[in-house]
Parts: sequence; C-alpha cells; structure tokens
Amino acid sequence: MQESYLFAGIQPSSGAGAGRGSRENDVNEPGFVTLATNGELEARADAAAPHLLSCGLCPRECGVDGASGERGWCGAGPEPRVYRHMSHPGEEPPVSGAYGSGVVFFSHCTMACAYCQNHRWSQLHEGRDRTVAELGGMFVSLAEAGCHNLNLVSATQFLPAVLEALRIASGEGVRLPVVWNTSGYESPAALELLDGVVDVYLADLRYADDRAARELSDAPDYVATARDALTEMNRQVGVLELNPDGTAASGLIVRHLVLPNDLSSTEDSLQWVASELGRDTFVSLMAQYYPTKGVEGHPEAGRRITRAEWDRARDALAAAGIDNGWVQELPDSLSGIAGTEIGPDPDADRDA
Ligand code: SF4
Repeated sequence: MQESYLFAGIQPSSGAGAGRGSRENDVNEPGFVTLATNGELEARADAAAPHLLSCGLCPRECGVDGASGERGWCGAGPEPRVYRHMSHPGEEPPVSGAYGSGVVFFSHCTMACAYCQNHRWSQLHEGRDRTVAELGGMFVSLAEAGCHNLNLVSATQFLPAVLEALRIASGEGVRLPVVWNTSGYESPAALELLDGVVDVYLADLRYADDRAARELSDAPDYVATARDALTEMNRQVGVLELNPDGTAASGLIVRHLVLPNDLSSTEDSLQWVASELGRDTFVSLMAQYYPTKGVEGHPEAGRRITRAEWDRARDALAAAGIDNGWVQELPDSLSGIAGTEIGPDPDADRDA
C-alpha cells in the first residue's frame, strides 16, 4: 500500500493481555484464545468439519465432498494451501503497526476478480498444501517474529483447518488478534463460525452494481451478499478500537478500491456504509487499482484511475460524512503496490 494517513483519531481501549506475541501495551484477550479456553473453539472446529464433506462455506454453496477429492468452484482441496506467510508492512497503519502484520496468503479464492493483484495464488493456485499442524506452526512463527496480528487473507475455503490451527496456536501461547481479510463475499454459515473468533474484519466492499460484480468477479448477487455480510461483521465487532500502541484490537475496517469508470459505484457504496453501518465506520479508500493481464484491453477496466476519478471518490467520502479511516495517495507507479512483488514461501513447491 502506498503512503496513507489517518484523518481522525480514536481512543485506545482498556484491558489486559499477555502471552506470546503480545506486547506489553496490548489489550483485550484475542477472541480465539477466550474460545479455546472455554471449549467453544473446539466446538466451532467440529461445526465446521461437515463442510469438508459437503461444502457450503461461501455463498456458492457447491456442496462438494472435498475429502473424497471433489473440487468446487474455488478449486480448493481439503488441506490448507498457503502461498506465503510473512510480516507485512503495507496494510493500513493500525494493522501493520511498527512491526508488521502477520499475513498468511491462502491459495484459491471464492471470487475471481479479473484484475486481482494476487492472481498467482488466488486464481493460478500457486502455493503448497500444508497440514493443520504446519498452519498452526506458521501462526506461532508470525507471533515469534513480533507481528501485531494474524492477518488471514482469503481463508474462507479453508475455514475448518484455520479453526483447528488456531487451537494449536492458542495452546502454544499465541496471543494475537485475528484479522479476517476478506472480499466481503461471505456466507452466513462462515460468519457464524467466525463469530467471536475474529477480532478485526478487514473487509472489501467492491461493488454496488451486480452487473459489474458478475462481469469482473464472477460473483452472483455480490451486492446483497456483501452488504449482508458487512452488516453481520459490524454487529459482531463494531467500530474499530485500538491498543495503546495504535494497533488494531477489534472492529471493522471497510476497504473500498476505486475502479475506473466508476465500476466500483463509489458514491453508492460509501453512502450505504454511512447509512447502514454508521458514519463512525472506519473506511480505507484505495487508489492502487491497476490493470493486470486479466483486464488488458477491457473497455472499462483496462486502465488505472485518473486524478479526476480519485478526486471524485474523495469527495464522495466527505459527502458521506465518514471521518474515520485512511485515504491512499494516488500512486505514480506500480512500484511497491501490495501484491505486485510478493514471492512464495521459500519452501513452497508450485503445486498447481
Ligand atoms: S468454498 Fe469453494 S467449494 Fe466451498 S462453496 Fe465456496 S467455492 Fe464451493
């Protein structure tokens, strides 16, 4: 992400927490730790397991038996496939903090955005199948590296494994907030499993027009689905709260990537956030769109946004009355934009 800035301050929350990966001034025991202690995380993992036999984890509800080798729309298998886990300095300021966000880039995706910056692993499925124990080990290593959180990117298709791996991480003393980094295209079933597990939802709101969502992301009923999902996320975690060190403790951050020719329906999207989620919602307005190979020559999506389009998006944010969040600088070049230069884990075979 390019340089961004906070345009409204918020007060840190209070509380206490300690353990591997917790800094002295962090607050609020992460949800998965609480649920691991009272047995609920094990119950969630048990409740998620049937999706391995008949998958309904995302709104596509393929119903496939992944354990028997069937593959649904996303192509994911029963083992969690990971492209890269790393400390990431380029997320929003309270997510990356001073020491980086503990990102896990999962392979496959429940959407297929033609312009996806992560298409090597989301659509070409690069990465390596891991065991649940190995995934739990990644969470531990990110905590030991000093990361501020576990930032799980497009993990829905591997939710049963994620819940099991969090149990392992909790047992190993990991005490980091879980960030669910999502396209917003989530099912009620997945969100029910995640309730109380996720501390911070970092959720895209990509479109307010189903035609654009179908054509560019092959995502039927995206608008209603994502709006329902973000409403539920907001119910679960509410307005963003910070630790005393300025890192995210809990809450919802809505990401909105401005697309050329207003394919993102920016004014409509931001007005909806303000009216339905609240004007105190934290919004990350993103300018980093660039046309990947998948949209080369596309009549509407085949170029970067213009300065005039970016100015209109910023005006729409102000008109919506949203004061909390971050606005990117319009990048001069592609250098440094998240996703363009990320390689796989050093030991990752290209399984796909
Ligand atoms: S996660 Fe994959 S297999 Fe499961 S319902 Fe969604 S697209 Fe289908």
